[in-house]
Amino acid sequence: MGIAGYKNIMNVHLARKRVFSAAHRYWNPAHSPEWNRDTFGRQSEVHGHNYTVEATLSGPEDATTGMVVNLTDVKEWLAEAVAPFDIRLIEYTTPEMKGLQPSTENLARVLWDRISSQARATTARLVKLKVSESEELFSEYTGEGDMVYVTKVYDFAASHRLHAESLSDAENTDVFGKCNNPAGHGHNYGLEVTVKGTVDPDTGFAFPIDALDRIVSDRVLDVLDHKNLNTDVPHFRRVNPTSENLAVFIWDVLRAELGQALHRVGVQETARNRFEYFGQ
Ligand SMILES: [Zn+2]
Ligand SMILES: [Zn+2]
Repeated sequence: MGIAGYKNIMNVHLARKRVFSAAHRYWNPAHSPEWNRDTFGRQSEVHGHNYTVEATLSGPEDATTGMVVNLTDVKEWLAEAVAPFDIRLIEYTTPEMKGLQPSTENLARVLWDRISSQARATTARLVKLKVSESEELFSEYTGEGDMVYVTKVYDFAASHRLHAESLSDAENTDVFGKCNNPAGHGHNYGLEVTVKGTVDPDTGFAFPIDALDRIVSDRVLDVLDHKNLNTDVPHFRRVNPTSENLAVFIWDVLRAELGQALHRVGVQETARNRFEYFGQ
C-alpha cells in the first residue's frame, strides 16, 4: 500500500541547518524610550548574533531516489530564505519584518512562510522551523496558528546517589552500578525549559524571557545548583534523584509558576543521556 511511486506512506523526517549572522535592536516606536529600555534592557541597543535556522521536513520516501525531498533543493530554499537577513540589520530587511520586533519568534514565523511555500511544490511538507540566536535561546514554529515554542537553556551542578530503599544493597549495586556509590557523585546538568505562547506584537516575544530567567533562577537553580540532591533538597529525601525524577520535579515547580505556558522540561545529565517531560 502506498502512494504511486512512493515506497510507503510512512512519513520520514529530515532536518537541514543553515547559519547566518545578523544584527538587531528591539525598539518599539509606539512606546516611550523609557518603556523600551525597561522592557528590552540591553537588547534595546544594536547587537548581533550568529543565527542557526533548522528546517524539518516530512514526507513519503520516493521509491526511485530513496529520498523524501532532494537535499540540494532544501539547501537552496534555506539559502534563499535567509539571504535577505545575512549580514544585515534584521528589522530593515524584508517586507514581512516591517513593523515586527526582530525576535527569534518572529523570524521563525517569517522563515516558515518562506520555506513552506517552497516545499509546497514537492510531496514533502515543512513540519518544524527552528531559529536559534545562541546555544541558549531558540524558537520553534510548527504551523499551529499563532503558537510559538521558545526554549531557554540553563545549567547547574549537583551531586546525587541513586539508591532505592526498597532494594537490598546488592540489588542497588546491580541496578545503579557506580551511581550507587555511598558518597555520591556529581554532574553538570543541562536544563532546557520550553514555554509556548502567541507572539506579543508589542515586544515580539511569546514569553518574556527575563521573567522566565527569574522564575527558573529563584525556583529551580537556587534549589538545585551546587547541592547534594539527596540531602539538600527535601523532595529527594523520599524520591530517588534520577534525571527522570529531576525532570518531573522541575516540571511541577515551574508548572505552579507558569501554568499552561510551560510546554517541556529537558534534563541532560551527561552528553549521552537526556530526558524530556511534557507533563502527564
Ligand atoms: Zn539579540
Ligand atoms: Zn549520576
